[in-house]
Amino acid sequence: MTALRVVLGDQLSDDLTALSDLDLAQDIVLMMEVQAENTVVGHHKQKIVLVLSAMRHFADALRARGVTVDYVKLDAPDNTGDFATEIQRAVARRRPSRIIVTEPSEWRVRTLVEGWEALTGTPVEVRADLRFFATHARFAAWAQGRRGWRMEHFYREMRREHGLLIEDGQPAGGEWNYDQANRKRLPAGAVPPTRLRIPPDAITREVIALVQNRFPDHFGELEDFGWPVTRAEALLALDDFIVNGLPNFGDYQDAMKAGAPFLFHSLLAPALNLGLLSPREVCRAAEAAWRSGAAPLNAVEGFVRQILGWREYVRGVYWTLMPDYADRNALDATRKLPEFYWTGDTAMRCLREAIGGTARYAYSHHIQRLMVTGNFALLAGIAPREVERWYLAVYADAFEWVEMPNTLGMAIFADGGQMASKPYAASGAYIDKMSDFCSGCAYDVKQKTGKNACPFNYLYWAFLIRQKDRLCGNPRLAMPYRTLAGWPPARQAAILAEADAFLDRVDDHDRQPEFALDGL
Ligand SMILES: Cc1cc2nc3c(=O)[nH]c(=O)nc-3n(C[C@H](O)[C@H](O)[C@H](O)COP(=O)(O)OP(=O)(O)OC[C@H]3O[C@@H](n4cnc5c(N)ncnc54)[C@H](O)[C@@H]3O)c2cc1C
Ligand code: SF4
Repeated sequence: MTALRVVLGDQLSDDLTALSDLDLAQDIVLMMEVQAENTVVGHHKQKIVLVLSAMRHFADALRARGVTVDYVKLDAPDNTGDFATEIQRAVARRRPSRIIVTEPSEWRVRTLVEGWEALTGTPVEVRADLRFFATHARFAAWAQGRRGWRMEHFYREMRREHGLLIEDGQPAGGEWNYDQANRKRLPAGAVPPTRLRIPPDAITREVIALVQNRFPDHFGELEDFGWPVTRAEALLALDDFIVNGLPNFGDYQDAMKAGAPFLFHSLLAPALNLGLLSPREVCRAAEAAWRSGAAPLNAVEGFVRQILGWREYVRGVYWTLMPDYADRNALDATRKLPEFYWTGDTAMRCLREAIGGTARYAYSHHIQRLMVTGNFALLAGIAPREVERWYLAVYADAFEWVEMPNTLGMAIFADGGQMASKPYAASGAYIDKMSDFCSGCAYDVKQKTGKNACPFNYLYWAFLIRQKDRLCGNPRLAMPYRTLAGWPPARQAAILAEADAFLDRVDDHDRQPEFALDGL
C-alpha cells in the first residue's frame, strides 16, 4: 500500500501535512524539478537557483531520516518537463495505491493537481496547508459580509486569536499599531549593518551552473547569490535579523538609501515562502526579542504586522477572489511595461536603484516595490497583467499568492479598492522625503514641470486628472482634488501634455531616450 507523497518546491517543511503520517517502510516522496515551472514567467536566475537548491537540500535531509525519495532533476535525460507527464511517469514507476499532496499555494498549480486523479487513475488526496496562521475558512469567515477588506481589522483579530503581543487581552503598550513611529528617514551618514549572506555550497554551486546554462536569458545576476537554502541556514538568517535588523526595523521601515538595498529588513521572505521557516516561529522570535529588551515595541509590532497581518491577509484575498482577481483592471490601464524595468537604463535614479538592486540580489524592500516601481507603474497607467508578471518574475520571494494581491491591490489599485482605501500614488516629494536618491538624480525633484522636472511630479497630477471621474469621490483624495479644482483648465492640459510627451519618450526608448536632458 505505497503512498506517493508529492512535495512541491515551496513545501519544504518537516511539518507539511503531506508528510504527517509517512510510513518509512512503504511510502515514497516524489519531488520534481520541471522546466515548465521555471518558464511560466522568466524567473530571476537567483529565484530558480533558490528553489532548486533548497529542494535538493530538503530531499537529502529526508533521505538522512530514512525516507525513500524519488527525485527528478531538471537535467535528468528522461525528464519530460511538466507536472502532468512527470506524475504519470512516477505512477508508472512506483505503482502507488494513492497520491498525497498538500494543496499548492498557487491557483494554476492547484488546478493541475486536481487533474492528477483522472490522468493517472490513482486516487489523489489533497490536504490543507496548515503552515499559516489562518485557514482559508478563517479568512472567508472574516471577509463575509464586509464591503472593504481592511487589513488592519483582520490583523487585530489575528493578534487576539494567536495571543501575539497581547497582555491581559489588550495590545502590548496600549496601541495596536505603531505605524506613525515607523516612517523615519535614515539620518545622513548612518551606516546600515552588514547583513548575513550565505555563500553557496557545493549543491548550490552545481545548480548555479545548471541555471546559467539553461536560462542564460532570464533576468538577473547570479554572482551575489546569498539566500538560505536549508532550514539551518534560514535559522541563522533569522538570528541575524533579530540582532542586526529588528531593533531598527520599525524606525526605518519605509526608508530608502542608495547602494543599501537591505537596510534593517529581515530578508526572510524567500525562506518563509519556501517553508524553511514558519511564520509562527518568526513572530515568536521577534516577540521574545521585545520581552527581553533586545528590540523596541514599535519595531516588533511593525514586523509582526507584516507577517501575522499582511502575509496572511494577502493569502486570504488571493484564495477568496481567484481566478477572476487576476484580470482586474479597475483603472483601465493599458500602457506596455517600459523596457527600463528589465535594464534599469533610466535617468530616474530611484528607479535605477530599485531595478539595479533587483537584478543584483533578486530583492528590493517593500517601499521600493510599492512607492518606486509600483508608483511609477500606477502613475504611468501600465497594464496590470504586465506589471504583475514583472513582479512575479524578478524577486527571489515571488510566489503568485503573495505577489498578485500586492501588485494588483496595493501597488496599482487594479482591484478598485478591495484592499487599499486609496491608490498609493505619490509625487517625487515622497521619494525625496524617504530617501537620498533625489540629490544624485538627473531630474530635479523640486521642479514641478519643465524638461528637468522630476517625472513623478507631473505624472502624479496627470494621473489624478485622468482618473478624476473614478477617484475624486474618495475622501482620502479630497485634498489633492481640492488643489486641482483651483487650477485652470489650461494648466491641467499642459500637465497632461507633458506627462504624455514623457511617456511617449519612455515607450520610444530605443530611438529617443527619456533621459535626453540638457547636459547628459
Ligand atoms: C508590488 C509588490 C509585490 C510584492 N511581491 C511579493 C512577493 O512576491 N512575495 C513576498 O513574499 N512578498 C511580496 N511583497 C511584499 C513585501 O514587499 C516583501 O514580502 C518584502 O519586501 C520581502 O522582504 P523582507 O523579507 O526583507 O521583508 P520585511 O520588510 O523584513 O518584512 C517581514 C516579512 O513580512 C512579510 N511581508 C511584509 N510585507 C508584506 C506584504 N505586503 N505582503 C505579504 N507579506 C509581507 C514577508 O514575509 C517579509 O519577509 C510585495 C510587495 C509589493 C508592493
Ligand atoms: S528626482 Fe524624481 S526621478 Fe529623480 S530620484 Fe527623485 S523622485 Fe526619482
